[in-house]
Amino acid sequence: MSLMSLDDALVRLLAGADAYLQTVPHAARVPASVPLSDALGRVLATDIASSMSVPSVENSAMDGYALRAADVVAGGPGLAISQRVAAGQVPTPLTPGTVARIFTGAQLPEGADTVVMQEDVRLVDGLACFDAVPQAGAHVRGIGCDIMEGSVILKAGDRLGPAHIALAASTGLDRLPVWPRVRVATFSTGDELVMPGEPLVPGKIYNSNRFLLRGLLAGLDVLHTDLGIVEDSLDATREVLRRAAADHDLIVTTGGVSVGEEDHVRPAVEAEGRIDLWALAIKPGKPLAFGAIRREDGAEALFIGLPGNPVSSLITFALCVRPVLLRLAGMADVAPVRIASRADFSWPRGDRRREFLRARRNAQGGLDLFSNQLSAVLTSTVWADGIVDNPSGQTIAPGDTVQFIAFSDLLS
Ligand code: AMP
Ligand code: MG
Repeated sequence: MSLMSLDDALVRLLAGADAYLQTVPHAARVPASVPLSDALGRVLATDIASSMSVPSVENSAMDGYALRAADVVAGGPGLAISQRVAAGQVPTPLTPGTVARIFTGAQLPEGADTVVMQEDVRLVDGLACFDAVPQAGAHVRGIGCDIMEGSVILKAGDRLGPAHIALAASTGLDRLPVWPRVRVATFSTGDELVMPGEPLVPGKIYNSNRFLLRGLLAGLDVLHTDLGIVEDSLDATREVLRRAAADHDLIVTTGGVSVGEEDHVRPAVEAEGRIDLWALAIKPGKPLAFGAIRREDGAEALFIGLPGNPVSSLITFALCVRPVLLRLAGMADVAPVRIASRADFSWPRGDRRREFLRARRNAQGGLDLFSNQLSAVLTSTVWADGIVDNPSGQTIAPGDTVQFIAFSDLLS
């Protein structure tokens, strides 16, 4: 089997996701209007334009005195204080030749054009005295200086974080239109697997991938069904695939996608739908299966089979499953951010496959490398806080610039 580049695989995976979105029943893709308190982590379905300017009136950016800059004489006799305006109060028009005591966020009186902060004002016999003429317009928050009425404040496909929701709230919106959550089913394959808490009888290993997938999916705000461990048999695997396809958008499995006799995922998916088996030119994470499972309604659920090695599972999830999930969720931009960083390590033998090396940022602003980069060494992924994306055949010397992808960007 010839190797496929990650970029080629991504083109196919995303094309599969886009095709899926065209075929799912219309009702499943109707945006839901949710209250702001339920919107965190959801994906916005339409652009949002503001129906108002923020702020909607001029207000003070400081505690101080609102005035007309032209009324101020530096070192002059001072101006009378004609009113006091706290935040939330409505001022009266400013009497010419006077100032208004004003507080942060309070509306500017009509006729005032400037705020002088209280530290720059001397009070002499109840008059506000100034040593300098202020710059007209200083410390005034103009109408719309944050948001202009009619402008687009949030874009379709935005993942709604705390700041997005706060911005919507600042314009008075109490609900937002979001796409439905992507429904994902997972199961682990392998007769060697037992669950933590069970005794480890000879020949068995503990199932770590199950928890890996649970955690990874929890970070992506999907609806996740964990179908547990499926025994290494064709019938059992087919039955679970059929069941999962009925009410999920994507099925993700770990293990069993190599071409060994004990790998039943491939024939099971083939029998229930279609599958392509790829040898990705990446390390770790070579085998990857992509396909679809037929549903009774004639549509299909997408299928991705990840390699069983835990580090390979993590890396292929981050690089291949995450973009598919983001696209299914309604996001256009699904590529993780790569940060040019200084290597504080050497990597004298580049692999012919593109490598994703477990690395960690250090206090000197560079990157350290975990000593054991084997795909069965899960310890590397706990020690590391991201991966170096190293092109095929590339050696690295200390001081070289490498491309770093932080787990915080990749896994949430
Ligand atoms: P496979 O892809 O099924 O050939 O598995 C590759 C390697 O990953 C083998 O050493 C498996 O024992 C191991 N493995 C498979 N599934 C899991 C799992 N759920 N948790 C931990 N290790 C696994
Ligand atoms: Mg196996």
